[in-house]
Amino acid sequence: MPRKIEIYDTTLRDGSQGLGIHFSVADKLRVAQELERFGVTYIEGGWPGSNPRDIEFFAEARKLKFKKAKLAAFGSTRKKGVRASEDAQVKGLLEVHTPVVTIYGKTSALHVREVLRCTPEENLAMIADTIAYLKSHGREVVYDCEHAIDGWKEDPQYALACFKAAAEAGASRIVLCDTNGGSLPDEVAACTRAAMSAVKAAIGIHTHDDSGLALANALASLDAGAMHVQGTMNGIGERTGNCDLTAVIPVAQIKRGWSCVPASSLRRLTELSRFIDGVTNQAPDPRRPWVGAAAFAHKGGTHVDAVRKFSAAYEHVDPATVGNARDVLVSDQSGRSNLLMKAAELGIELDKDAPSTKAALEELKKLEHQGWSFEDADASLVLLLRRHLGKAAVVPFEVVNYNVSIQGGSKLASCEATIRTRVDGKESLTVADGEGPVHALDQALRKALIKAFPKLKKVHLADYKVRVLAGQDGTSAKTRVVVRSTDGKKSWGTVGVSANLVEASLRAIVEGYAHALV
Ligand SMILES: [Zn+2]
Repeated sequence: MPRKIEIYDTTLRDGSQGLGIHFSVADKLRVAQELERFGVTYIEGGWPGSNPRDIEFFAEARKLKFKKAKLAAFGSTRKKGVRASEDAQVKGLLEVHTPVVTIYGKTSALHVREVLRCTPEENLAMIADTIAYLKSHGREVVYDCEHAIDGWKEDPQYALACFKAAAEAGASRIVLCDTNGGSLPDEVAACTRAAMSAVKAAIGIHTHDDSGLALANALASLDAGAMHVQGTMNGIGERTGNCDLTAVIPVAQIKRGWSCVPASSLRRLTELSRFIDGVTNQAPDPRRPWVGAAAFAHKGGTHVDAVRKFSAAYEHVDPATVGNARDVLVSDQSGRSNLLMKAAELGIELDKDAPSTKAALEELKKLEHQGWSFEDADASLVLLLRRHLGKAAVVPFEVVNYNVSIQGGSKLASCEATIRTRVDGKESLTVADGEGPVHALDQALRKALIKAFPKLKKVHLADYKVRVLAGQDGTSAKTRVVVRSTDGKKSWGTVGVSANLVEASLRAIVEGYAHALV
């Protein structure tokens, strides 16, 4: 039997404290259900004492009846000088009726003196009383030792006394928190070993990424004997974030051979990461290990050639084990191998030795040299390949010309675009307003095209990125525009390059609509 490691997910509590992260009650419920389906051991849903939204979440979550994961409410030890049973915050933790309550308390003698301003003995009593009180109401209590590693480094005697107070009061897990994210793996491992020899309760680890070591620190603790790891999906959280569960889980399960989640869940890891990005409205980080779009992307011609023959040449695991996929980037560094693999990925069959393949590769290299980039613009690449394969005629419209006017001054600038399009040999002129020149043009083009192709009604711009490419002099520098369009189900990228921002944008937008039609 492989060693079992518990996954404690705090995406909905610590994760919600991350910059730019906002969860509504409905979002939290969707995330909790996904986490349950995925198979984490604990789901920390929020801090009922901190806001009414979390109280509402727990009221709704109660109706969902989680079967696999245990739902946890988060809070702190009682205040100094009052009984746990008289502390409103502690009582609030019982009122949300979760099977698990996780509380945090001080471990560092320095923090007890400077922040709590009470005696070290009173802090130990606060830990023990609160845990005993929650236990007496039938709750499993997970105890988070705030500043555990820092506190243990300063005053090991006192930190161990805190761990013991929590364990003796009945906490099921003693969780060592690297709250400030400044500890090193060897320190975390040593603290874990010390805690394990001081208490019988199982040890957990909670790390933050301030030094870029959240994952290394969590692994050091698990290697030293901890059996419970806390973190958030995609590593969202305070400051630089928490330990990223989308990395800890595959490291523990694939690299160490431990068991965290069902193997079938591991194959949905990339999907789960994208889901969390969607709910939190964050652009997926392509370089995120394991689940990022670039995690198994190959660009160098020799790499691609080798991977075609033998995937392990430049892949540490099979991308499918975490639900990711191999991606081949086509660029001016790439050879024919990249183009063949990429085309196959896009569903286009190319003949390796055909003159059209050679011509397409040459055009690609020329365009890349002029500043085009197809890495994020698969749809433009498809259109280019189709042109070389003699399928150009399938784009059923043409932009004949356009005009954009901008009126600015003391008031907000207004923009108007006029566009002449040709469909089936018939020309028409369309006018539209917009908040900027590109928006006005897109509005006019949409209006014109929807009349001819009603299915484009569903298509709209999802993302618009502008990059100024280094030129000889600032103003004549070229602009590269990458647009992502979506029909609500799928999304695709297109690219346009020009010395003129509006022209570059229009090219990318036109290809976005063209792709939807072909
Ligand atoms: Zn934290």
